[in-house]
Amino acid sequence: METLKQRYEDDFKSLNELINEQDGNFDIPMIRRAFEVCVSAHEGQYRKSKEEYYIHPCSVAKIIVGLGMDSESIAAALLHDVVEDTSIEIEEIKAKFGADVALLVDGVTKINKIQFTSREQQQTESLRKMLIAMGKDIRVIIIKLADRLHNMRTIDFLPDQKQRDIALETIEVYAPIAHRLGISAIKDELEDLAIKHLDPIAYREIEVLLSKKESFREQTFNILRERIEKRLREEMPNVEFALQSRVKSIPGIYRKMFIQGKDFDEIYDVYAVRVITETVTDCYNVLGIIHDMFRPIPGRFKDYISTPKPNMYQSLHTTVLGREAIPFEIQIRTFEMHHTAEFGIAAHWKYKEGITKRDKGMEDRLSWIRQILESDGDEANDLIRTIKIDLSQEDVFAVTPKGDVINLPIGSTVIDFAFAIHSAVGTRMIGAKADGKIVPISHVVTTGEVIEILTTNQAGHGPSRDWLNIAVTSSAKTKIRSWFKKERREENIETGKNILEAEFRRNSILLPENEMREFLEELAKKQKLASVEELYASIGYGGITLEKLMPRVKEDYVRLVNSSKETKIEEYIQKHTPRSPEGVVVEGIENCLVKLSKCCAPLPGDDIIGFITRGHGVSVHKTDCVNVPKDLSNCSESGRWISAHWVDSAKTANFTSTIQIIGLDRDGLLADITQVLFNMHVGLHAANARALKGGNCEINITVSTASVEHLKSIIAKLKKLDGIFSVERMNK
Ligand code: MN
Repeated sequence: METLKQRYEDDFKSLNELINEQDGNFDIPMIRRAFEVCVSAHEGQYRKSKEEYYIHPCSVAKIIVGLGMDSESIAAALLHDVVEDTSIEIEEIKAKFGADVALLVDGVTKINKIQFTSREQQQTESLRKMLIAMGKDIRVIIIKLADRLHNMRTIDFLPDQKQRDIALETIEVYAPIAHRLGISAIKDELEDLAIKHLDPIAYREIEVLLSKKESFREQTFNILRERIEKRLREEMPNVEFALQSRVKSIPGIYRKMFIQGKDFDEIYDVYAVRVITETVTDCYNVLGIIHDMFRPIPGRFKDYISTPKPNMYQSLHTTVLGREAIPFEIQIRTFEMHHTAEFGIAAHWKYKEGITKRDKGMEDRLSWIRQILESDGDEANDLIRTIKIDLSQEDVFAVTPKGDVINLPIGSTVIDFAFAIHSAVGTRMIGAKADGKIVPISHVVTTGEVIEILTTNQAGHGPSRDWLNIAVTSSAKTKIRSWFKKERREENIETGKNILEAEFRRNSILLPENEMREFLEELAKKQKLASVEELYASIGYGGITLEKLMPRVKEDYVRLVNSSKETKIEEYIQKHTPRSPEGVVVEGIENCLVKLSKCCAPLPGDDIIGFITRGHGVSVHKTDCVNVPKDLSNCSESGRWISAHWVDSAKTANFTSTIQIIGLDRDGLLADITQVLFNMHVGLHAANARALKGGNCEINITVSTASVEHLKSIIAKLKKLDGIFSVERMNK
């Protein structure tokens, strides 16, 4: 008994230690009481793993701590299965731990009762139920996600079919919710575990591909880190920054390989370098420096700082060509954006929780949004409002028929909902459905409702003036007012034109007059507007916001400038790589004449070195060739030896080499050899055999191989044949 108790103490200690690593004040005595209730209530219960049950809520609590959540959430995580699985009632929780914790436990218990269906068309429905169950408090869903994460981590103890069912539900319901809430820390692991159980063979295949490239990645990253770090320190001496190497998640690679049908080598963002720094301005400065150091690939730059993803993700992404013409992605963000990228809404939630030293960070966040959007006051207010709503419990979450979650303040009507989707949806609204039933436009939206806005394209239709009295949000009201401003059309055209032209100048979008006209006409058409004047007018009264439009415009512009053909990365690399016909890059010398030396006949993949000949360019040897001096720095011609390496693509080209086989001169030996080559799809160019003394023979074959590895595997296969003494690559 005593030892058991000691174990409980140790479990609590490790939880407590985790909490101590977090900043902020925690109610440790309350968490301790929750822990005790958890242990005693679940006493005698065991999981499928034969572990005592309390280990599970304890692990869930640890995940919650890791997300930076508060004392109430930690306590609720410890107690999350108590009401469902033990005799303890919710009233008791309320009495012992307060209304907050009770509400959270109750919310999680309710979600557990939901029968989720995994059919795709039902996803919205599942999400809706989830939103209803979580009621007013987003912490419920975060605890539920942590619960599912721990269940996925321990899924191996369940029967196979059950594993697959749970994995499927995880990837179809839970991972998307984590994604929408921006909690990639949870989303990534959920997806990873789900794919691992749903498609173990593909998962393993990707793991092997990644591990094969691991040392290459490390090497490349170390070189890049050194260069970038040095340059940033020079140019931004007083700015703090961190460099990370990030590997794309296995589910991310899985999607590209098995759903989009790409080759592993065609995925250019498998490896990325991440620069994390202090302010937004620093981010753009780093971008400038990076683009100065490396050649950016056109059309691959994405600015998620000025246009955050719907789940709050912010970063700059750009793809550049490295030293060996290997494209790699660079992501640039602030420390705070990095935190948000990992923890999403959980991070925001933390800001709300009165941790005073974080409040300043919140202010900063709002102020930079103001700065970026200072040209458009309404839009800035909107964004700030959206962020504030994330922080307030006084809001409802309703869903579009497509499953997008719309956050609104409590008391919002379908008018607010419509305008929150888009101004154009609001101004074209003629009615609405809530959960499939027609409702008046004064209908107050509640959490979990599926709201469908009915619209018309009929000209001359628009909001009515009394909508101003029904709408609750300032953003909807502003947008309605703007619509009426539209009557002053001439003025709006003028304003819109000025705004657009200023924005184009700011983005260096420049075209000759007639081409610009065409470009704008195309743009208007895409926005379903009749003319360029309509486009100006819409921008003028705020019906179209440039903030949403510009990323597309920039893309279109880049496409147009690249004379309507998109730059293929492959072509781009081909054009810009200094390379000899043999696929060797000699460092420091571009486009020199290169020949592979006859003495050692290097193959792609071999370690090589160049020798500057007199008048015949550079001759390339294997580093272990007898003609290469052992001590290069100390030989008579040390200045003429020069570093060289293979370009990646050369490693997959075909090369011929000769193999010498010595063996017993037996019947059928040559036939066996050709069979091996045939099985391995090796092209045989020449073969000759001669008898040696003592009943042995020598066979020389010339084959074409893709790489050194390929050649090695051929040699290994040949060595296994009966009566073979040695198989060796010639010209050594
Ligand atoms: Mn549980």
